[in-house]
Amino acid sequence: MANRANATGKVERAVSVFSVDLDAIADNYRYLRERLGGIECAAVVKADGYGVGAAKVAQRLHAEGCRHFFCAHFDEAIALRPLLRNSAIYVLNGLIGAKPDDFVGHDVIPVLNDLGQVYAWSRHSGTVKRREAVFHFDTGMTRLGLEVGDAERLALSGLLDAFSDALVMSHLACSEERDNPMNRRQLERFHDVLRWLPQYPASLANSSGIFLGGDFHFDMARPGYALYGGNPLPDQPNPMRNAVRLESMILQVRAIVEPRTVGYGATYKTDAPSRIATIALGYADGYVRGFGNRGQVVLAGRKLPVVGRVSMDLVTIDVTDVPEDLAQPGTYVDVLGEHNPIDEAAARAGTIGYELLTRLGKRFARRYIGAVDD
Ligand SMILES: *Cc1c(COP(=O)(O)O)cnc(C)c1O
Repeated sequence: MANRANATGKVERAVSVFSVDLDAIADNYRYLRERLGGIECAAVVKADGYGVGAAKVAQRLHAEGCRHFFCAHFDEAIALRPLLRNSAIYVLNGLIGAKPDDFVGHDVIPVLNDLGQVYAWSRHSGTVKRREAVFHFDTGMTRLGLEVGDAERLALSGLLDAFSDALVMSHLACSEERDNPMNRRQLERFHDVLRWLPQYPASLANSSGIFLGGDFHFDMARPGYALYGGNPLPDQPNPMRNAVRLESMILQVRAIVEPRTVGYGATYKTDAPSRIATIALGYADGYVRGFGNRGQVVLAGRKLPVVGRVSMDLVTIDVTDVPEDLAQPGTYVDVLGEHNPIDEAAARAGTIGYELLTRLGKRFARRYIGAVDD
């Protein structure tokens, strides 16, 4: 179990331990790359690598041969820049949050989301070494990106002379629903764009998009969630390896001899006799309130229910079904992991694994398995 030194230098056991298996993430990367059969597989590492640690993940994937990394913010990109040699780092949010000169100076590539950004970047691209730009077209998200109709304008503008080596991308809205007609519609719109820009490589698929088939692969895929072990195929068994584990310590066990209520709002009433354990985790750690009376943790091979509301720093679980000596103060329970996958846990709390992962807090002791700098 992970230890850490406290302020006085004494080593104590951490109350919550978040473990990230970079070997599993590397396996997931290789699996996706195999499915892509030779085209480029980028890695999306925005939001600190979906909350699991962008620097560790990116360095490990770089060691696996990944050379294209997508962040959301400029600051995320420049933090990774010194760690990733001979690689392109892109900023999905666009040529914003920093001046073009800063993008050039830091060797970071903006994803261009409107014609104004294309124009502004065209005047600076001469000094950029690799793929100078990404043209992002909106084919159905209505979020960021150029309009499909802008492709013709761009092609005829004369601006493209400044971009010898650009990427054309779009993003799928419904890729985790195989049969949603939106996928084909977006694919057609993307082809409408590419007809005007045939000289550039193209990228459409996120994690789930990779599983929609070769038509969706083009020249580069941009998976995020599946790398971290999330299921890209929500109605099928998860082909990815679980990569995260969250363990939290039991602080106290209460033997209940008469029925009574548990937690804020007194929303749960125990049977008696029973035993209620309190663990060192709460909504301040990203264990969202949706888990109140709905979450499950695993202890001694058993799934145990969260009872009562989630507090800021504490969660209560019913440990009646576990032998007393296996549920003691100091015992760790599995909150997330192999036997309690992020997709299933998130669904119980009324959210998705993406949100659950990215919200997990900073108070945990973190352990990385298979880090390249170890
Ligand atoms: C987040 C994101 C991705 C990765 O999506 P996943 O579903 O996590 O694989 C790819 N492309 C864009 C534009 C994104 O914003």
